[in-house]
Amino acid sequence: MLPDFRVRQRDYLLEISRAVTQELDLKKLLARILRISIELLAGQAGLIALKEASTWRVATAHGIPPAFLRYLEPLLAEERTTNLDVDELNSLLKDLTYTASMGLLNGVGLSLISHGKVIGVIFIFRNYPDLFSSNDKQLLQSFADQAAIAVYNAQLYGQVSYEQQRLAALIDSAADGILILNPDHTIERVNDAFERIYGQSDEALRGKRHEDTIRWAKKPEGQTLEQAEVSGWPLTSGAYLYVEGDLLRSDPQPLPVGITYAPLLTDGKLSNIFATVRDITHFRNADEVKATFISVVSHELKTPVALIKGYASTLRREDVRWEKHVVRESLTVIEEEADRLAHMIDDLLDASRLQAGGLALSRADVSLPVLALRLAKRFQTQTTRHQISVDFPSGFPAVLADETRIEQLLANLISNAIKYAPGGEIAITGQNLPEQVVVTVSDEGPGIDPRDLPHIFDRFYRSDGAVRKTKGAGLGLYLAKAIVEAHGGRIWVENKPVGAKICFSLPVVSNQLSITNHQK
Ligand code: ADP
Repeated sequence: MLPDFRVRQRDYLLEISRAVTQELDLKKLLARILRISIELLAGQAGLIALKEASTWRVATAHGIPPAFLRYLEPLLAEERTTNLDVDELNSLLKDLTYTASMGLLNGVGLSLISHGKVIGVIFIFRNYPDLFSSNDKQLLQSFADQAAIAVYNAQLYGQVSYEQQRLAALIDSAADGILILNPDHTIERVNDAFERIYGQSDEALRGKRHEDTIRWAKKPEGQTLEQAEVSGWPLTSGAYLYVEGDLLRSDPQPLPVGITYAPLLTDGKLSNIFATVRDITHFRNADEVKATFISVVSHELKTPVALIKGYASTLRREDVRWEKHVVRESLTVIEEEADRLAHMIDDLLDASRLQAGGLALSRADVSLPVLALRLAKRFQTQTTRHQISVDFPSGFPAVLADETRIEQLLANLISNAIKYAPGGEIAITGQNLPEQVVVTVSDEGPGIDPRDLPHIFDRFYRSDGAVRKTKGAGLGLYLAKAIVEAHGGRIWVENKPVGAKICFSLPVVSNQLSITNHQK
């Protein structure tokens, strides 16, 4: 039979070994090792100090008066202790304890060594003069060894969980959606951006199959993950996989996305697939705008050029003598088409200026009733099918605005009314509200189809009907909106049983001018 002491010692060592393998909280674990070491060596107090990057720190202490620790900590933390070896620290602590306890305490200290490096020290103090025997020291050494393993494990664990947290934070902060897939294509987790893109939570998606989650509205471009795997990806070709298409999701509107699949191979075996999902709406829009721009420029600019060229070369024919009225009519067409061309080029330039950095305004007091009246007169000369009326209440305040731009805006709205309404009244009216004015241009034409409403202020947008029946670049309302917004106002469409009604508001910043009622 083993003597009691040996039994206790074995039990303690077993307890520590168990603790070392089970407990990953370093602070708790060291406290446990220290408590057991003190008990076994029949001591009253003790401490474990760890060597950190550039200093020493008391990681746990037992039975040591706080005043002593307060004295000890700065001493350990001092720069000069950085390279202190255990012997030095030992004698430092011995001196300290001796002084602090007026010779009543005596202690023993041993280093904690892991992978050949001193990573800390353990000290046990007794409050009776009995010296520590070599057996005591041997015993303490086995605790010191266990503590060293514990520190090493806990540090490793800390590092791993820190890396895991860092990775999770990185994944969640990514702007692109990320899906982490298991080799069997079930979803391990998704990040915040994917939740937003897809409209479902990580919790709801975990465990679902990739093929039930990533579904396309129409055949995507490139190989899907499933198709690629049939041909042996990623083991035959470890390269990334890229597929682009319209992703079906909770929102009824599919989202254009590009997905990159990257395999994670461990020892030649697939352990995860990382899918990065990027919203490519902007690229699509840019592509569409580019395509529309080319078709607008080629169609809308070519038509007047062809007309001008046609009329000019007809008039130039030397074998024909043209009557005067034919010459006049032909020249009128040439002039009108040249004006249209100039106008379109101005609009295109304005649109590209807008994209490059907004509109520069040169503001002064502008009387909207006077401007509306002037434009009504000018446009009335161009149409006999419409009657243009202007109605502003008396005392209408002036607005601080860029007159040329406001004229361009109103002219766009009036010319649209003439273009889209086959006839009837075109009414330009003003409303004076607190701190803002509202101007409305309404006609008695077909009005704006509710399906076109969300898009009519977009660049190059033209309704299908408009494309078939009328000429235009789809820039009029886009520029109108930009002008209104540059002035701090708003533009919108109001539903009317008959015809279109476009309204815009402008803030009133100047009240110096007030204009009396203008009617036509
Ligand atoms: P464009 O007139 O060159 O097509 P706009 O930007 O001025 O371009 O107008 C965009 C679209 O809004 C037009 O294609 C047309 O469908 C619609 N629209 C604008 N004004 C009217 C109106 N007064 N009546 C009916 N539809 C209109």
